[in-house]
Amino acid sequence: MKVYIDGQFLDSGDAKISVFDHGLLYGDGVFEGIRLYQGCVFKLDEHLERLEYSAKAILLDLPWSRQEISDIVCESCRVNGLTVGYIRLVVTRGIGSLGLSPKSCSKPSIICIADHLSLYPAEYYENGLKIITSPIRRMNPAALSPGIKSLNYLNNILAKIEADRLGYIEALMLNDQGYVSECTGDNVFIFQKGKLFTPAFYAGALKGITRGVVLDIAEELGIPCIQENLTRYDILVAEECFLTGTAAEVIPVVEVDGRTIGTGKPGETTVKFLAEFRSKVAKEGTFL
Ligand code: PMP
Repeated sequence: MKVYIDGQFLDSGDAKISVFDHGLLYGDGVFEGIRLYQGCVFKLDEHLERLEYSAKAILLDLPWSRQEISDIVCESCRVNGLTVGYIRLVVTRGIGSLGLSPKSCSKPSIICIADHLSLYPAEYYENGLKIITSPIRRMNPAALSPGIKSLNYLNNILAKIEADRLGYIEALMLNDQGYVSECTGDNVFIFQKGKLFTPAFYAGALKGITRGVVLDIAEELGIPCIQENLTRYDILVAEECFLTGTAAEVIPVVEVDGRTIGTGKPGETTVKFLAEFRSKVAKEGTFL
């Protein structure tokens, strides 16, 4: 596998960054996770826009145009002979001194890793996921906005560790007011009485690209989708629940904290949204 770093494709074993990079020292940087389906990069423009917004929010000036970054992503797939895969695009603050201030970092670094994807096992799509509510609260947007896809993912990692230790692969995170924000790496939806509901961004969720696609599908299907505060109670009494994310796509949730959601099987609407999502990825994208 070849990894792109600052203008060069390197063998994965030689793809290294400096120990003085503030991305490593402080988690000072931003990233994206992107999917490649049938030789097409899905929602590339949306991912690059979110990367630009994340960078802007942390005052990191990107010295590359959107087209240049898009070329790096597509070339990384081509160089590795991929037609299906997962792309990790990372921008770090770059090399600096041991102080916190980014003033000592003269230029950011850009890294692109395009690799085969390890998917969630098919059984989770057939039978649904069992998740827990994490005791770790999603960080307060006033401290660090969850809308920034930054290299500092410790808040999510701590929740993920709690879930792992109890034998679960995802965890619902509440914000500091007790409202549902999202899962550790996925957005959350419920279906109730003919309507979809998902937490609004002000609840402290990432502006998920897959979430956006699900909102488009809801509009196409004429299903109202309400973005508002949701409580754990709303999730527990929902007819259906599903998660969305670049890696997970649309994945049903059938149990939360040992309590059955809906019928305990993936719901009809969830299954429809997954099918619609998969038909979109087969038709749309930026050709390599
Ligand atoms: N929330 C968090 C915290 C995430 O890291 C992600 C991406 N894995 C998502 C939601 C889903 O976003 P997307 O659909 O853009 O992958």
